[in-house]
Amino acid sequence: MNKIEIQIELTQYLFEELSVDDKELILASKNALKLSHSPYSKFKVSCAIRLDNGQIVLGANQENASYPMCLCAEGTALAAVASQYHGRTIEKVAIHVPIDTPASPCGFCRQSFKEYETRMHKKFDYLLAGNTDIYCFQGIDTLLPLAFSSADLNS
Ligand SMILES: [Zn+2]
Repeated sequence: MNKIEIQIELTQYLFEELSVDDKELILASKNALKLSHSPYSKFKVSCAIRLDNGQIVLGANQENASYPMCLCAEGTALAAVASQYHGRTIEKVAIHVPIDTPASPCGFCRQSFKEYETRMHKKFDYLLAGNTDIYCFQGIDTLLPLAFSSADLNS
């Protein structure tokens, strides 16, 4: 028997410590909170994705009276990238929740990011932004170790 230990590494920043580009992406994400439709949970989440050409694509959670139909902010942004910016690749993802400590993407969104990283042959940079703290890391494997991927289908 072997015990396998998995560690993750995040870097914590304050907003003032970020680069100009990262501040811009987080501010875009915060601004996208107004796109959230969350009358049921009252939990607003927004997402801003910077593409390889510098363009920023926004998303926000979209709830439905039929709860299983709810869409996460990250999913709406990823769908916009795939459907409206075909051929572009993702550089960085900012996810904002208006609470002090950053929230991390749900399991469904982690798996979605994994698919897009596989499709685009790269690891994305992530900024998880609360009102005060920001967690940074590279690659969704950080939050989804031992992820299921297309490689598993072909083995
Ligand atoms: Zn999600």
